[in-house]
Amino acid sequence: MIDPMLTDYRVRQREYLLEISRALTAQLDLNSVLRRILEAATELLASNVGLIVLRLEDGSFAPRATHGLPAQLLPVFAPLWADAPERDYEGSWIVPQLDRKVAAIARAGGLGLQQTVAIPLIVGDRLVGLIYIFRATSGNFTANDRQVLQSFADQAAIAVHNAQLYQQVTNEKQRLDAILEASADGVLILDAALHITVFNRALARMTGYAAGPTIGLLHDQVIVIAAKRAGITLREAEAGGWPLSSNSSLYVEGDLRRRDGTQAPVGITYAALFNRDEQLVNIIANVRDMTHLREADDLKNTFISVISHELKTPVALIKGYAGTLRREDARWDAGTVRDSAAIIEEEADRLTQLIDNLLDASRLQAGALKLNKGDVALDQLAAHVIEKFSVEAQTHPLALEFPPDFPIVPADAARVEQVLSNLINNAIKYSAANTRIRISGRVTPREVIVTVADQGIGIPLEEQARIFERFYRIDDALTRRTQGSGLGLYLARAVVEAHGGRIWVESRPGQGAAFSFALPSE
Ligand code: ADP
Repeated sequence: MIDPMLTDYRVRQREYLLEISRALTAQLDLNSVLRRILEAATELLASNVGLIVLRLEDGSFAPRATHGLPAQLLPVFAPLWADAPERDYEGSWIVPQLDRKVAAIARAGGLGLQQTVAIPLIVGDRLVGLIYIFRATSGNFTANDRQVLQSFADQAAIAVHNAQLYQQVTNEKQRLDAILEASADGVLILDAALHITVFNRALARMTGYAAGPTIGLLHDQVIVIAAKRAGITLREAEAGGWPLSSNSSLYVEGDLRRRDGTQAPVGITYAALFNRDEQLVNIIANVRDMTHLREADDLKNTFISVISHELKTPVALIKGYAGTLRREDARWDAGTVRDSAAIIEEEADRLTQLIDNLLDASRLQAGALKLNKGDVALDQLAAHVIEKFSVEAQTHPLALEFPPDFPIVPADAARVEQVLSNLINNAIKYSAANTRIRISGRVTPREVIVTVADQGIGIPLEEQARIFERFYRIDDALTRRTQGSGLGLYLARAVVEAHGGRIWVESRPGQGAAFSFALPSE
């Protein structure tokens, strides 16, 4: 006959295990699952105290859940997790000197701990912890008791394993989130239906959209390529059946429309992520800001067109005059030969000047503009410079206005001469014949200021900052007719700033321009 007590016991055990399995699948909070396991185990085994000790990452052990054990008594149980369990000769895990330790604990805590059973929690072949059950009554835990406890231990091991996996996944996700957020490139993750699920900070900065509100929107509601330059857009690719497999990526380059309507040059790479059943799970887009590349590209194009234009003119003149002079069927009088040679020389000088400017500009970019400072009297320097413009002064009278006793400043004379020549040259180029050019000096407590003022075409306000940029020339009829590489003011500013000074322009269109630079007098 079946013992009704035993049947009842089995039923209750099954119920508990079932309940714990449910708890296991329903929630991932390890502490409450372990506590539930202890409750059930202690009750079924008619015990009053239970304890679960878990192995930490560093290999040591620590208590994780207790039952029937007042918190203040917990330190008394410390010997149970002080030493790591060992394997016995059969390979089973045992707690060294368990009985001795429990006896000491019982004494120290004034507890009746008559029987103890410790069952290892094993995941695979890893020991992840131990479950202890204590009984105050005498007698031994039976084989049946141990079996019951083993089934709870298995559940606990699963719970620990799940929690560890969950922790691992959470850590990985946090790490990934941190990487995505910190990435300098924009990152966008779409679900299979092209809804945005991740929108990182860099992308928010690039597009002007806040990350939060974009989540859940469709890709095309946020990412709009206004002007495509290369590749194919996501929409075009999709129409063509993209993506077919995990390894296919997509690239599109163009101007991304920002929230405020402005555009930003970008390159976007889309990669498709499939699951094992070959279903599309995500599309991951990497958005690279191409502003700098585009600027570099534009600069290179400008450079090539300016240089080819600027080189062609003098070379054509030199070639023309040289070819004419060496014609064998013609005899040239001395005057013609001299004039032609003068033009050849002038054009060769212009070429040298251009090459020097280019070299200076590239040195500047390499951060290597060296100043050779000495004592410079700017009034004398200016007088010396205008002597060189004696030919031009016939059409553009040059007036020098410096106060007496103009201070001597520490400067690189050759470089400052270059700046002044440049400003005077521009004043001549950009003003009509028979208008005066004034070169004046001023002294302030800390600086000396030199101004070159003309009565020429002037410069619109919106262009005034840009004319100091590399290769920048105002696009108007006169500029187009005059030669220039757009490097003069760029170099002038670099030289002045290398001295710790400033350069600026005051001008109104049609009313001339006054370029000034200030150099520190100390
Ligand atoms: P470049 O004269 O070789 O073109 P610069 O760097 O010296 O190059 O000058 C840049 C542009 O600034 C010029 O192309 C011209 O449009 C404008 N600019 C410079 N100086 C003057 C001036 N005195 N009056 C009017 N426009 C000027």
